[in-house]
Amino acid sequence: MKFKPGRIFLLRVPEGEDLPEFINKFAEKRGLRTAIVKGIGSVRNPVVGYYSEEIKAYKRIELFGTFELLTLLGNVSIKDGKPFAHLHVTLGNANGDVFGGHLMKGEVFVAELYVQELVGEPLVRKDRGDNLSLWDEEPL
Ligand code: ZN
Repeated sequence: MKFKPGRIFLLRVPEGEDLPEFINKFAEKRGLRTAIVKGIGSVRNPVVGYYSEEIKAYKRIELFGTFELLTLLGNVSIKDGKPFAHLHVTLGNANGDVFGGHLMKGEVFVAELYVQELVGEPLVRKDRGDNLSLWDEEPL
């Protein structure tokens, strides 16, 4: 799909917000249908997912404590008629150990986000019946 660059936002998420939920609400409030999201900061008790092809579902990985949000990278597109953020994270603990996955939950301590709106026909996620909601593949 082809897009043109739209608005760019640089923002700090309020402490205590759930990060994926906040990004979904932010996109809805600002009328963002398609966007790229990047971020850094720190989150508490994050839950990340690992999609298992075998069981066709996400395995939930619950982490306890405060983790550096080393990188957050994702996108916003349309799912069930609303903007939906698909986010992946790399998280670091006090020993420098690194964990990561598909971000399901994470209470913000600090989060600085870069959000780049993309303007064009919105990408729409479709439920495939295997717990994955994907865009159509783009033929060459
Ligand atoms: Zn994912």
